[in-house]
Amino acid sequence: MGKNGAEVMQVLPLTRPNSTTSSIAINPPSPQPPDSRIWSTHTAHSIHPAHSHPHIQMDNLSFGADGSDPTASNGSAANGKRKVLHNPEKTIAVLGTGDYGRAISRRFVNAGFTVFIGSRDPNRAKIKQLVRQTGATLTGQEVAVGAAHVVIVAVGRDHYDYLPLQNLQEKILIDVSNNTEKRRGPHYRSNAEYLQGLAQDAKVVKGFNVLSAYALENGGLQGSKEVFIASDHADAKQKVSELVRALGFHPVDWGALQAARDIEDVPLRFMPSWKRPVAVVFGIFVFLWILAFFSFQICRNLQSGDWKDQWKHLAMQNFNRVIAITAIWTLAFCYIPGLIAAYIQLWRGTKYSRFPKWLDDWLKMRKQLGLLMLGLASMHACISVAYLTPQTTEWLYESGTEIQTQVVIDVNTTKQETLTIYNSELNWRGEIFMTMGAISLCLLVVLGVSSLPSVTATLSWREFTFIQSKLGWVALVAAASHDIFLGWHYMFLYWGCFRTLPIGPQYALYPAFIAVIMKIPLLLPPVDNYLQKIRRGYERNGQNEVSKADIA
Ligand code: NAP
Repeated sequence: MGKNGAEVMQVLPLTRPNSTTSSIAINPPSPQPPDSRIWSTHTAHSIHPAHSHPHIQMDNLSFGADGSDPTASNGSAANGKRKVLHNPEKTIAVLGTGDYGRAISRRFVNAGFTVFIGSRDPNRAKIKQLVRQTGATLTGQEVAVGAAHVVIVAVGRDHYDYLPLQNLQEKILIDVSNNTEKRRGPHYRSNAEYLQGLAQDAKVVKGFNVLSAYALENGGLQGSKEVFIASDHADAKQKVSELVRALGFHPVDWGALQAARDIEDVPLRFMPSWKRPVAVVFGIFVFLWILAFFSFQICRNLQSGDWKDQWKHLAMQNFNRVIAITAIWTLAFCYIPGLIAAYIQLWRGTKYSRFPKWLDDWLKMRKQLGLLMLGLASMHACISVAYLTPQTTEWLYESGTEIQTQVVIDVNTTKQETLTIYNSELNWRGEIFMTMGAISLCLLVVLGVSSLPSVTATLSWREFTFIQSKLGWVALVAAASHDIFLGWHYMFLYWGCFRTLPIGPQYALYPAFIAVIMKIPLLLPPVDNYLQKIRRGYERNGQNEVSKADIA
């Protein structure tokens, strides 16, 4: 559902509406068969706006795509070539020669449309030069509007009052405007509704505002390709959907024109789906940082009595430990809500009931949690490479050799000392620790990449669930193993901090442990089969059992 309660749905493939053709301002010559929309020069007089609308003077018209006068009525361009005339179905007017007006004009020209850009003053040299680069034709506002049935209003809301409103009646007006801040209030109307109020006999469609001028000029490849549209006029909406597709974007119908209030807010959104996951991960990080601070600073210093020693590790070693543990916790938190959902479905014996809101919210933020976790895990890998040495994690390496030696302090003083010559070769635990970390990170990258919409779109549902579920669990087990082999000697029956607090490698595993314990019963064939049956539509207390034949 849209924010306004408007159904969000993909606009269905469109058939060319007859009404659109018949209401085009430039009248096509009726005897022409449909496949001869591009007319040859001898019909120029019958379709050119200047001739079909005698009251419109073409004096303002500066130049066409090739710099020649497109009004030439003898049907030949200045260079003597035969001119291809405009198909009214593919003729667009754009009001406003600003960044957006020019960008969308260029895009339509590239898509094979004839575009008339209407300016308040088309005789400015600078504007002429800028518009020339788009391949569109620069005219006065009235001329442009007279030339096309579809008019893109690429001027700010504040200037709507100054548009040639009389000429805009009966047209399809595409309102592309955005706001600089969210506006609300009892009497608030969107820009598109305001425009509809000014041109009441026109058919206003909200659209294209989610694309920036930059995106239009650069192919719109970055970000979403969806264009949200809204209008009170179904035929106009269909026509605009065709135009959206013609430019290589996907129209998404948000319903009536009132939905323009939400559509105009879309460019002002600031990561709405990320706020909660970021807050959750940050909360986990802060909690674990405080825990680590007690373990590694307060406690160690209490035990050693040396209060100068551990503070220097706050910036990197502590941080690195904490982001590693946060990453494992977050990864486990990606899987725990799915497990809770499975138990609820088993308990209720149906999948046709709503989960509690907290669980619903949690399920919806798994993708963001996963990507944040990938960021933390990558950061952890980078920092670890910087300081993992036989000196810092001696227990992961083959034993070093201790030697007795005389150390010369100064000319008069020598000292007998025991020095350790560290062995830089990893022992078997160290090797498994490293390998498990690398496997886990590699799988997490695969998970992260496959959750990007452009990649997800290339995967079948089976491939997607295999990666996100099966490989995800392997990643969690690999990450847990990485942690277990790091803390091997201390994992079990060991308490740090005066035998009161668990140590980092231990509490890193708590959520993962809970997830694995919850998962094991669900893997038992009878439970798994029953859950799959429920997910195919079976209801324990209902009539809705889906037979295998139905599913087939
Ligand atoms: P802009 O560069 O300021 O251009 C606006 C144009 O409006 C002017 O060049 C002017 O063209 C025309 N205009 C008509 N009546 C006017 C008046 N009374 N006073 C001033 N100008 C008047 O703005 P823009 O960036 O192209 O944006 C145009 C519309 O597109 C806005 O509603 C904006 O919200 C929307 N939009 C822009 C972007 C973007 O990336 N720029 C993205 C999405 C939506 P003439 O002087 O030739 O008449």
